Amino acid sequence: MRIITKTGELHEAMREERSRGRRIGFVPTMGFLHEGHLSLVRESVQQTDVTVVSIFVNPTQFGPRENFNEYPRDTGRDTEILKAEEVDYLFLPDREEMYSKDYKTYVEVHSLQDKLCGRSRPDHFRGVCTVVLKLFNAVDPDIAFFGQKDAQQAIILKRMVQDLNLGVKIEILPIVREEDGLALSSRNTNLNPEERRAALVLSKSLEEARRIVMNGERDPEQIIGGMKEMIAAEPLAKIDYVEIVDMENLVPVRKIEKEVLAALAVFVGKVRLIDNTILQVKE
Ligand code: AMP
Repeated sequence: MRIITKTGELHEAMREERSRGRRIGFVPTMGFLHEGHLSLVRESVQQTDVTVVSIFVNPTQFGPRENFNEYPRDTGRDTEILKAEEVDYLFLPDREEMYSKDYKTYVEVHSLQDKLCGRSRPDHFRGVCTVVLKLFNAVDPDIAFFGQKDAQQAIILKRMVQDLNLGVKIEILPIVREEDGLALSSRNTNLNPEERRAALVLSKSLEEARRIVMNGERDPEQIIGGMKEMIAAEPLAKIDYVEIVDMENLVPVRKIEKEVLAALAVFVGKVRLIDNTILQVKE
């Protein structure tokens, strides 16, 4: 595995790989890798000739009151894991490499960026889109792999790729969970044992939503009510949002039809966790 820290060097290496006819797969991450990340890495290794993983904790997607410094990091461990997965390139830029002192350019995906997580994290998706476009420009991948765990991010990035005529194919892979249902997240390491137990309320409330729909309920308000009641019963949990929205425009739906996205963000102690599920009805 070749470790690259400079964008220019990565660009050159990718040009060389492409000139040899190799298809490039790309997995952007913020590191502190877990099985969720590795599901993306393995899919890329399987589907493409060259796999590039980036690790960069992107400062522009953290709000002023969100603790960028507390985001978990362990580059040494991550490097060993990626070597074992037979990743070809690890891109490890530092902050200055991505954002020079006079940095001024940002990408916004209007309307979508303000919904769901965007309401409590107003600049978050602008930061995500900006860094992902910069990384796409450096790698120029054939396919980029993202997780359904960050459903809004996936929807916004697909929109960005279409709107800006980018050549990359975006592939979204399912949420990887712990055995008890908790969605894997680097942030889970910041939960103490009591909070870890309380965090189960996210996936449990999504299960509850699926159960209510299975029983024939089609009114989103009823389903959201059931979910909120369950979360409110967990003293360590504080709801940021619980919504059921259209899969494309992220607008709340009035009725459960075909496929809709049930998404939530909940603070467990100080840790903000997100989870989601697709509710499907056939009729
Ligand atoms: P992050 O390091 O949190 O920015 O995540 C990097 C990529 O891994 C994103 O595309 C995430 O959606 C994806 N990811 C994170 N957690 C999971 C998970 N539990 N299952 C599947 N994909 C995930």
